[in-house]
Parts: sequence; structure tokens; C-alpha cells
Amino acid sequence: MRWSKALIPTHKEDPSDAETTSHKLMIRAGLMRKLTSGVYSYLPLGWRTIRKVETIVREEMDHTGAQEIHMPVLSPAELWKETGRWDVYGAELWRVRDRNGRDFALGPTHEEVVTDIVRNEIRSYRELPFNLYQIQTKFRDEIRPRFGVVRAREFMMKDAYSFHRDEDSLDETYRIMCDAYSRIFDRCSLTYRPVEAATGAIGGSHSHEFMVLSDTGESEVIVCDCGYAATDERAEGKVAPMTSGEEPGEMKPVDTPGMKTIEEVSEFLGVEPWRLVKTIVYEVDGRPVAVLVRGDREINESKLAAALGSEVVEPASPEVIERTTGAPVGFAGPVGLDGIEIIADHSVEPMANIVVGGNRADVHMTNVCPGRDFEPNAYRDVVLVRRGDACPRCGGPLDSFRGIEVSQAFKLGTKYSESMNATFLDEDGTAKPLIMGCYGLGVTRTVAAIIEQHNDENGIAWPKAVAPYSVEILAVNVKSEDVRNLADWLYRELCDRRIDALYDDRNESPGVKFKDADLVGMPLRITVGDRGIKKGIVEARVRATGEESEVPIEGAPDRIAKIVETLP
Ligand SMILES: [Zn+2]
Repeated sequence: MRWSKALIPTHKEDPSDAETTSHKLMIRAGLMRKLTSGVYSYLPLGWRTIRKVETIVREEMDHTGAQEIHMPVLSPAELWKETGRWDVYGAELWRVRDRNGRDFALGPTHEEVVTDIVRNEIRSYRELPFNLYQIQTKFRDEIRPRFGVVRAREFMMKDAYSFHRDEDSLDETYRIMCDAYSRIFDRCSLTYRPVEAATGAIGGSHSHEFMVLSDTGESEVIVCDCGYAATDERAEGKVAPMTSGEEPGEMKPVDTPGMKTIEEVSEFLGVEPWRLVKTIVYEVDGRPVAVLVRGDREINESKLAAALGSEVVEPASPEVIERTTGAPVGFAGPVGLDGIEIIADHSVEPMANIVVGGNRADVHMTNVCPGRDFEPNAYRDVVLVRRGDACPRCGGPLDSFRGIEVSQAFKLGTKYSESMNATFLDEDGTAKPLIMGCYGLGVTRTVAAIIEQHNDENGIAWPKAVAPYSVEILAVNVKSEDVRNLADWLYRELCDRRIDALYDDRNESPGVKFKDADLVGMPLRITVGDRGIKKGIVEARVRATGEESEVPIEGAPDRIAKIVETLP
């Protein structure tokens, strides 16, 4: 491609709304443009990389024996109502209505649609197992789109759905798919780690996420030297108990005018944050539940939902909090809180002389003792595990890192086949629900993850397998006929060898062209200039390492082709 004819709009400045390196560079290097919040158009360079990632995904999926299909973006509400997800999915499910008043969803995932296809076509155990996948646009009505394509409202995903006669067969495909994901991310030159994950709105019994290590990732991953790895949502672990060792004191109310946060109350009363126990009111299936955790810890809402046997829990609105506790937000406490279920984290049980809200405006209670001054309905593990807690497997200290979730695999079991009545006839002649797995991989997210791991202060440094072009030929001064002739010839020769090359033939200053070359980041840059021509050479520079070499003009196309072959 000749740059002078290409749409590669580069920018010197970072876009004002971008927080992460990949978001900044995808805009600055002209890979994409924002249409509206969380929705992007992909320009030629961005689209070429997306297509290359797609090709890798497709090759590895096909290699496992999975079959590619294509399902509609639009799916009728009736299907989602069959599984109950029309209600459970919440505001992230993008709903649209047609002219006749019929409701539809823009698919964030396709379990319902694929199960509908399969229940109408599959009869016998002899047809099992099989695995169907698609690469397609997905929608999620994010409350706060951010990080560019990482948390977008419209994005591209590969999703696969496997159907089985029994659990052993599901286990085998699950393993094969996790292996395929490893090969895909290896080919994309990503450093990643598979971790145990929460099942969330998709459901099922087991789930793994593939996390790409990145400081700007929005997921926290908990790991241990023993090999334990899980997302913080999923991670188990023991919180070291904290007790003051004091004798239980007399419970007393204290005035805390306008002090609503842990920090404010802690500073005002001169008490360490861990001795302040937070009371958070949640709405669970329409009823309020008060949840207690230590002031220095956070609640894990996935664990809380599981502990309460519910699919989703949401923090209660200020109105509900006020009605339930009789106090404005910030002053809820368990003492005298009648007629509402109270769940306390295990770490609260051994404590004494804690500080809690007084269920009155501007009042807290001190010297409160669990078991004496209030009795929770249950103690449960509802705390978000973090670095330093004890590993659930070996007891050693847990560590953590940040990552971008690029794919997730689920053992769904019969969650969808039972609710949608998708059955097969087994060998003994009885109808049984199909056992399912599903396997998602974010294509546009993977592109962002690659950039997060392959960049420097000057721009992107693409790995060859996913680079928009393998080589950039940079003609230093196109007004020089010698330079132009040599660069034109090299470009033609590389194209004839089917090496994808970007040829910067623009009439721009060398400074602009070298800066742009670093920014768009093709793996190999070939510089053609008058100085080199006098020496009988062109200059080769590997973007990722900065390694430079001189290539004799005679035989240059073959030599360059050789260098390209060896690039990472
Ligand atoms: Zn461990």
C-alpha cells in the first residue's frame, strides 16, 4: 500500500478521553475512530490487524473440529424469556422494539439462539458431540464505556458453543478449547495466564478466563506460588482475623456529625479503619439485606449473590436504605436493625468493640460486640480477597496482578438445554437434556491487549503475525529521483514476493515520516535515502528491538524477505 493513497490519519496528541495506552495508540496510529460513546469505526490499519487476529482464531478453531456458523445480531425477546435472562441480564442487555411493538435483544452472547437451532435439529446421541462457533459483532449497553475497545458497547467476539451427551465429553472439549486459546494467544505474542473465574450472568459450574497481564487491565487476578490463580471476583482465601485483644466495653452512641465514610469516621474517632464495620444494604430479589464487612475490606458481590442463592445483588437505593434503617446513607448499622436479614463476613465474628452506624443521622455506635449487641442471621465468606490474604490451597500469602480478560470458557451443563427443552435421545431410548459448554474470545479486545504488551514511548511495536503490514519502506526524500526509483522497485519486488508492505512515498519531511513509522509500528522498517544509495545499501531496522543493519541494494528484495521470515 502506498501511504500517499492510504487513509492512515495519525495524531501527535493523545485523545483527551483515553486512559489506557492501547486506547491512545489505536486513535493516534489511525487504527480506529470513535463514532459515539463505546462505538468505533475501524480504519484500514486497524481492520487489517483485526482480520489477522480473526484468521488466527478461525484457523485454531477449525483445527479443533469446531464448525463456523453465523447467527443474527437480533434475537426475539421470547427466547430470552424462556431462559429467564430477559429479566436477569439487567440494563446491559440492549433491547430494541420493532414497529409492531415486539421486543428484541441485540445479542451480547448467543446461548439462546444456538440452543434454539440445536433443539430443532438434533435428535440422537449419535450426532454428539459437536461445537459451533461464530465471529461476530456483539452489543452491551455499558453504563460507562471506557478504555476504547476494551469496554465498548459494540465489539467483535468469537463465541463457540459445544453440545454433549455426558460430562466426560464436555470436559474433553473444554480442555481442547483451553488448549486452542493458548495457541491463539501464543500466536498473537501475548503473555497471559488462564485463571479460575466467576460464572456471572452466563451461569454454569466451571469457568476459566484467559488474562493478559497489563498494568492498565481492569481485572484483578489473585495468584499464589503454588499455582492457584483466580479472578478477584472468584478467588477464595482466608482473611487474617484482626482483634484488638481488649475486654468488651459498654456499647455507647457517639455523635459523628456529617461523617459518612470510613475515612471520616476513622479519623474523627481516632479508630483504625478495620475496627469500623461497614453495613451495606443490598437489594436481593426485591428484599433488602444488610451485609457487614470490616471497614478496611470490600464486599465481593459474586460471593454474596452465591451465599444468598441469588443470581444478582444490587446495592439498595438511598430511598430503600432510609426506609430500612431509618437513617440517611452512611449511618446504617446492625444494632436494633429488625425485620431485615443480616449477613456478616466471617472476619467480623471474632471482633469486639467495633464501631458501626447508629441507624440515626450523625450517630455511630462504639464498643459494639457481635453476638452480644446484635446477631447476624448468618456468617458467610463475602469479602473480596486481596494480596496478602492466605491461599485457599496452600495457606501461603496470595499475590495479585492486573489483567485484561481476553477470553472466557464456561461449563454450562444443562442450564440452557433444560429451560429451553433441548434434548436428545440417548442409547437407552430416553430423552435427556443436552450438556453444553461455551467459549468466548474478544477479538477487538485481543487487539487492544496486544498493543498494551507491545509498545514503547514512540508508539506500537507490532508482532509480525498481527501487524497491519510486515514491512514499511520509508523513502526519505521522494523528490530525489534515485530514492524514488529504488523505493518503487523495492516495493514492487516485495509485493511480487507476497510480502505485505506499506510504502511511505509521501512528500513529507523525514522527521514526520520517521515519527509516523515508529507510531504505526510495522515490525521492519526499510529506509531508502541518498546517503545509503551512495554506499550501495538500504537500512533495515527492527521496530521491537531497534536492531539496525545495512542491506546491499543488489539482491535486497530476497535479503529483506529473509529478515521478515525471522522476525518475531
Ligand atoms: Zn497457594
